[in-house]
Amino acid sequence: MKYVYFFGAGKTEGNGQMKDVLGGKGAGLAEMTRIGLPVPAGFTISTEACDFYFRHGRKYPKELAAQVKANLSRLEKVTGKKLGDVRDPLLVSVRSGSARSMPGMMETILNLGLNSGSVEGLAKKTGNERFAYDAYRRFVQMYSSVVIGLPKDELEAKLRDLKNYLNVKDDTQIPAENLKELVRDYKSYFKSKTGKEFPEDPQEQLWGAIGAVFESWMGEKAVTYRRVEKITGLLGTAVNVVQMVFGNAGDDSGTGVCFTRDPSTGAKVFFGDFLINAQGEDVVAGIRTPMHLREMAKRMPRVYKQLEKVRETLERHYRDMQDMEFTVENGKLYMLQTRTGKRSPAATFQIAMDMANEGLITREQAIERIQPDDIERLFYPVIDPSTKRDELTKRKIATGVNAVPGAAGGKAVFSAHEAEEWASRGEKVILVRRETSPEDVGGMHVAQGILTATGGKTSHAAVVARGWGKCCIVGCEVLDIDYAKKMMHVNGHSIAQGDWLTLDGSEGTVYEGEIPLARPEPPKAYSVVMGWADQIRKLRVRTNADTPFDARRAREMGAEGIGLCRTEHMFFKDFEQPEKSIDRQLAIQEMIIADSREARQRALEKLLPFQRRDFIGIFEAMDGLPVTIRLIDPPLHEFVPHERPQQEELARKIGVPVETVIRRVEQLHEANPMLGHRGCRLAITYPEILEMQVRAIIEAAIDCQKRGVKVFPEIMHPLTMAKKEMKILEEATRRVADEIIANNKVKLEYLVGTMIELPRAALIADQIAEIAEFFSFGTNDLTQTTMGLSRDDAGRFLPEYVDEKKAGIFAADPFQTLDQEGVGRLIRWAIERGRKTRPKLKVGICGEHGGDAPSVKFCHRVGMNYVSASPFRVPISRLAAAQAVMEEKSSQRNGKEPKVKR
Ligand code: PEP
Ligand code: MG
Repeated sequence: MKYVYFFGAGKTEGNGQMKDVLGGKGAGLAEMTRIGLPVPAGFTISTEACDFYFRHGRKYPKELAAQVKANLSRLEKVTGKKLGDVRDPLLVSVRSGSARSMPGMMETILNLGLNSGSVEGLAKKTGNERFAYDAYRRFVQMYSSVVIGLPKDELEAKLRDLKNYLNVKDDTQIPAENLKELVRDYKSYFKSKTGKEFPEDPQEQLWGAIGAVFESWMGEKAVTYRRVEKITGLLGTAVNVVQMVFGNAGDDSGTGVCFTRDPSTGAKVFFGDFLINAQGEDVVAGIRTPMHLREMAKRMPRVYKQLEKVRETLERHYRDMQDMEFTVENGKLYMLQTRTGKRSPAATFQIAMDMANEGLITREQAIERIQPDDIERLFYPVIDPSTKRDELTKRKIATGVNAVPGAAGGKAVFSAHEAEEWASRGEKVILVRRETSPEDVGGMHVAQGILTATGGKTSHAAVVARGWGKCCIVGCEVLDIDYAKKMMHVNGHSIAQGDWLTLDGSEGTVYEGEIPLARPEPPKAYSVVMGWADQIRKLRVRTNADTPFDARRAREMGAEGIGLCRTEHMFFKDFEQPEKSIDRQLAIQEMIIADSREARQRALEKLLPFQRRDFIGIFEAMDGLPVTIRLIDPPLHEFVPHERPQQEELARKIGVPVETVIRRVEQLHEANPMLGHRGCRLAITYPEILEMQVRAIIEAAIDCQKRGVKVFPEIMHPLTMAKKEMKILEEATRRVADEIIANNKVKLEYLVGTMIELPRAALIADQIAEIAEFFSFGTNDLTQTTMGLSRDDAGRFLPEYVDEKKAGIFAADPFQTLDQEGVGRLIRWAIERGRKTRPKLKVGICGEHGGDAPSVKFCHRVGMNYVSASPFRVPISRLAAAQAVMEEKSSQRNGKEPKVKR
């Protein structure tokens, strides 16, 4: 089996398509070599070798040694140098790289091949002893920490002490003699810790490095990153062994990271950082604050022009924004990496729109590139624009580099571990660090925002935060952080751990104290691309909304009607007139406590005007669009007090003996309320509730219609399970509705339908569809009842079912992402059966799954007419619905899927 792929001197064994096998970095290097860009030669050990390694108790495949040897010889031939040579040694970098980008999460070793002999060769060949020993000390330092696992901090401390001793700021200012000293010091430290000499043999070094890169795949930070990013199904990391080129070979050398477009805004400008006389890791680690590419254009115009050309070539080649690493060695440009660049959500839309308009990609491709997360993150907060200017000026304590836009507020916390701890207690935190490193990802993820003292826009903190759309300020050099005391001094202010900070990541400003935040307006490119999605999709997208306010907001987000209005939610609070909340609560409590039909009727009379007013508001907000109103589906016991003093108070307010209240509360108690007296069962036993609600809906609709509002009410019965049950409900509904319509002498169209939430209803859907004019799958309950998983209790053990490292029985939480195999099968069946009886049956979904992209795609495939999602998820559903059409087309092209009738 082939495990090693060569690239160099214009020839490659791999290509850009082979990411799964070569990893992103390896595939990029092969592809850049293939299209003639300047790339140092090397070879890639495949992810399959890594997979083998972990599946065979950390053993390499037997073919590997010979293949590495052969490729190393080929590399030596191409470069004309030999590993470990004492005159002109070949040095290599050994880098990780998996199919999905995991910035900084795995290991890298540079300058491999140096030993006490070859370092002299390097010094002679370059005529630069200082450079050679700097390379050597870096190698010894990296090897000791990465391969052997010696503490990085202690090695760093030795370097810091030396700089203090010499009273210099930059590494480049340390003379050769002192670097030699430092190498000796590192080596004796190595020996004291390991009992062995630092390895001189380049072969031993190479295999140590290969093993360390493989091991880093299962390192804690990489595993955490994959969990947080939900990255699964990869084989492992590849190992790239590449000829070293040196950005630290003098002032005509340097190293940089650049993006073909601005990753924050998406603007078509060349964007990046460059450090003169430095090695790659210095830029990414954010240790020195780099210069802008504009500055590079001035200092190295010829190389800059060449880099500009590479930018154009790569973007046209990949048809996407690229994130590139490069090194200039004595005036010669080398490309070290290219990959699809991570970008902010706003940039995602901007770049997708611009590239489609530029003809680089099609509109469909533009839509395919948007992820559900991009949409969610677009709506991240900004500092409330109504905040007074002088208030902001007063609170401003520092300015840094605006790495990721958006605003965030929280308590300052100075370590990633504590950030996780605080967040788990429900605290909002801002993670403040001198710089971040991959160990910090857990804390970075839970933080509202990230603030660092060093680093540029491509530093670790910036790159990781941008991927999450998380507010981030870097390079805020005035922060004087004292980790031991858990505090910092900033321009004369002292901030202790726990003090509130507000960050404005768009401006790069740090404020002391809490400043109100507001949600932003999405950029124009968002509406344009979403408009394209709307033209393509077949599924309608409605919303789940219970108040006129939510309905209006959902409409702004593109909702095309209401798919679920949960009427019992209206009993909690009067959103339009909050002072009336008490009255409506009392009315519902009186209705529940009532022990005769008459008493219940009296209470319902009081509720009627509240409900009618709510429905009027909702119909108005949805003028011209359908509104599905579900009749009460009540956890009745939740509406009555369980403590004696409150029971007494209620009894007094509604004028009944306290014993009546206590007795009713006891009667309402259920061992399993999820399967109890709920849903339409309530309307069956207390038809007067149904009558009141239908009356409120129809009277509201007539009122609106008379004022020119276009209404399309759909009355929905929850939790039905039998045809006869549906018949009783439908007849009762029509009796009340038609009488009101006739009395008002108007024409009003309305539908009567049901939710499908029980397996029995799905199984006999053909019978139910004889009466129901529409189905709406209540997949929250249908999941609960199909899987026998209680919605209230499953949270205790379900995570174990979903965790790949534990039982891993399901790939996702079935309450979040529809279980297509099981629950989905019932849905398919019910739609097919239902439409046999009633070919025009309108079908939708209103469980939480209506706002989950993979579930929405399923809904498209099974021929639903619409999905219904909570307001902020409406755009996700719109996008997923469009993507579903494209996926369907592509699988039909491949002859995989038949056409579905809708
Ligand atoms: C459902 O069960 O999917 C549903 C939408 O209803 P509820 O969540 O109100 O039970
Ligand atoms: Mg339900």
